[in-house]
Amino acid sequence: MNGSLFAALSAGKDLERTALISGWERPLSYGALFAASARMANRLVELGVAPGDRIAVQTGKSAETLILYLAALRAGAVYLPLNTDYTPAEVSYFLGDAEPALFVVDPAATQAGEALVAPIGARLATLGTDGKSGTLIEGIDALPATFADVPRTADDLAAILYTSGTTGRSKGAMLTHGNLLSNARTLIDAWRFTAADELLHALPIYHTHGLFVATNVALLAGATIRLLPRFEPDAIFRGLETATVLMGVPTFYTRLLADPRLSRERTKGVRLFVSGSAPLLAETHRAWEAATGHRILERYGMTETNMNASNPYEGERRPGTVGPALPGVSIRIVEEATRTPLPAGQIGMIEVKGPNVFKGYWRMPEKTAAELKEDGWFITGDLGQLSVDGYLEIVGRGKDLVITGGLNVYPKEVETEIDALDGVAESAVIGVPDPDFGEAVTAVVVRAPGSAISESEIREALAARLARFKLPKRVLFVEALPRNSMGKVQKNLLRENALAAT
Ligand code: AMP
Repeated sequence: MNGSLFAALSAGKDLERTALISGWERPLSYGALFAASARMANRLVELGVAPGDRIAVQTGKSAETLILYLAALRAGAVYLPLNTDYTPAEVSYFLGDAEPALFVVDPAATQAGEALVAPIGARLATLGTDGKSGTLIEGIDALPATFADVPRTADDLAAILYTSGTTGRSKGAMLTHGNLLSNARTLIDAWRFTAADELLHALPIYHTHGLFVATNVALLAGATIRLLPRFEPDAIFRGLETATVLMGVPTFYTRLLADPRLSRERTKGVRLFVSGSAPLLAETHRAWEAATGHRILERYGMTETNMNASNPYEGERRPGTVGPALPGVSIRIVEEATRTPLPAGQIGMIEVKGPNVFKGYWRMPEKTAAELKEDGWFITGDLGQLSVDGYLEIVGRGKDLVITGGLNVYPKEVETEIDALDGVAESAVIGVPDPDFGEAVTAVVVRAPGSAISESEIREALAARLARFKLPKRVLFVEALPRNSMGKVQKNLLRENALAAT
């Protein structure tokens, strides 16, 4: 049986209905979207892409990038989106690891792209965000608007999304057609999506939230997506005039709450506000309800598992929790060392199981075996507790992770770059609560003897090495890092001190 995600997305659609609008321009009907993705799939085949090949994509957010995603699915290729903030040094690791057949970049990045594909023998193609530029779409109208979709089983790979490892090595999470399709179906039911919906889409599309939760759900339901290049309050308020759903990270909501335009009147056409990717403060949940009359629906997921838990559409949306497990998904709390299940009310490691859970880490059998157990449970690395009525509360992260504006930053990676600078003895990177970003990346640095290296010098040096979202918002200096008797840096103390200093 064909288990292809695209086969499901394209089945039984009203071809006249608008699928995608780029801001307020270039509306594309489902019929036009399918024709464009067929042409793009033909282009991919022309470029030598075969089923199972990886296509790495580091392009701006646009309808064209989503068309490329659909084309990759149709051609049976594995879509590999990369954060547009990644520097060439970071991208070269991903390309070396994933060995894509094709790497797609913005036309402005052609030169850097050529240098990146040369060592791995991949082809380079370009794609602009204006619907006109890039080698991928030059002359594409001459290609057929139909394509013989490559059949896929539910177990075939649809995408690889990299999620950084705590040890500094990034891991490619392998997601199958079955993983993505089952989760999209579950969310459509859970959140009552229909073809009448208009989704206001302001999330990045290189991440599971914007690419899979938002895009797959809306397209599978036959809804309309209004694609904004980024979160920007003026555009959001304009979009809210017709949108029925907004999906965001907590930062969206805190920023909109700070805007005097937010009101019941301006949100009256919206039926659902969703939040995820980072903890939504109960305070934000309450303030939003007071300002708009809407209760934000918070859900919990991750790159490896898609969505696991969601507050209910009907029923109690409990602030500070991510709701019960989604239908078909099992969640349990276990004692970390022994993996013994714990009763309600006890904090432990969150494990999940279900058709949503990924197939493993790309070319990392040992890491896969350590986290995705033979009994089917995936060890999330998040700590939490379940209430007696099954609501999950996330209390912290076992993994040493900072989430800033919904994006993950692994302290180890930033620390390694800081420690390499002249004038630095050592460093520790922590997340400090921040009303705007959820957490702000903060570096605590011990200067080398005789060094006078400053905050701005460190930030400048890192800017060339790390994506912008990973750069410390603040650099604090200390004489020595606090350590416990086992020699481990006590990051909890650093966080307390950093909070006191801000
Ligand atoms: P990512 O793989 O980038 O989607 O990040 C996944 C991680 O984000 C999870 O393991 C959690 O630590 C965190 N996360 C996602 N949603 C929530 C939420 N609603 N509340 C708290 N943490 C969350």
